[in-house]
Amino acid sequence: MTEGLFGRLSGRGASSKTASAKNFEVAMSDEEWRRRLSPEQYRVLRQHGTERAGTSPLDKQYGAGIFHCAGCGQPLFDADAKFDSGTGWPSFSAPLEDMVETDTDRSFFMTRTEVHCRRCGGHLGHVFEDGPKPTGLRYCMNGVSLDFHPGETAAEAKPAADKP
Ligand SMILES: [Zn+2]
Repeated sequence: MTEGLFGRLSGRGASSKTASAKNFEVAMSDEEWRRRLSPEQYRVLRQHGTERAGTSPLDKQYGAGIFHCAGCGQPLFDADAKFDSGTGWPSFSAPLEDMVETDTDRSFFMTRTEVHCRRCGGHLGHVFEDGPKPTGLRYCMNGVSLDFHPGETAAEAKPAADKP
């Protein structure tokens, strides 16, 4: 019963079927996600919300470290790939290898590429093709979907992906 509710909520408002159409390694009921996340994290990660630009302290965070998924802890981005896009959202030129997945998002009369955590399906943001070299990509992320571990390296962060 909760799964049905979860599926309906997560698919709401977008043609993207991110969290509902697939089984992710970390799968929780809607109730469990609500308990685990803050209301704003829940709105963004589980309901494809977008935080207000300029509200995340991580936007101005440029120290070395690794950005993890706030939903399941999966390491997602190295601070090395972070740049100031001037948008008010934390922006990266590339994710860590094999840590995120994308989907087509046709909500709000636009076609955009949605980005979510490969492990829990949590919505992170969108990727655009106007980023800096060498990738030319701009991963425009919601800071509330991310958890920053200062000083961590990608090599240190990867084993943590095996733990919930
Ligand atoms: Zn996740």
